[in-house]
Formats: sequence, C-alpha cells, structure tokens
Amino acid sequence: MKKIETLKKWLSVAASEVEGNEPRCPSCAETSIDYQYVGNVSSHLGYLDVWCTACNTGVHVSRVVVPEKSGMLPLDTPDEILLERIPDFKNVF
Ligand SMILES: [Zn+2]
Repeated sequence: MKKIETLKKWLSVAASEVEGNEPRCPSCAETSIDYQYVGNVSSHLGYLDVWCTACNTGVHVSRVVVPEKSGMLPLDTPDEILLERIPDFKNVF
C-alpha cells in the first residue's frame, strides 16, 4: 500500500473515532483505536496522534486544528505525562 493511502486510512479511522464510533485498525482490523490531540489551548492548533492498542501502530499528524469537542493536552504537558497517555507506537506514515 502506498504511504499516502495508509495515511488517508488512518485519518479516516481517527475521524471516525473522534465521532464516537469504533473504527477498525487499518493494520490489524481490531477495534482498539485510541487518539490524543496535543495543542495550543487558545489557538486550537496542534498535533494528533492516533494509534491501535492491539498492534501498536499508528500515525502522527502535525499542524492540525483541534476540534472543539475533542479533549486536548496542552503543548507544555510534561513528557512523562505525554508518555503515560501516548504509547511509543510504530508510526506507519
Ligand atoms: Zn491494529
């Protein structure tokens, strides 16, 4: 699969997860998707990590607008808290 297609699949999975659905992982087909926005709380600009807790793959998307309804961690969140929340997944993009 081309890399850009892989990214598109993951982005659609992320959007579906944010909407409250249970999308299947593009890599292993499990419904174990999790995500976290990290961004500037006033501008709502930041990045998105979306990953699968079953196969530990995912994507990192920088420069995104964080949707109002999504919880986000502030950009200055200490590393130890980020690492607790976001696993060291294999970035497929
Ligand atoms: Zn998976």
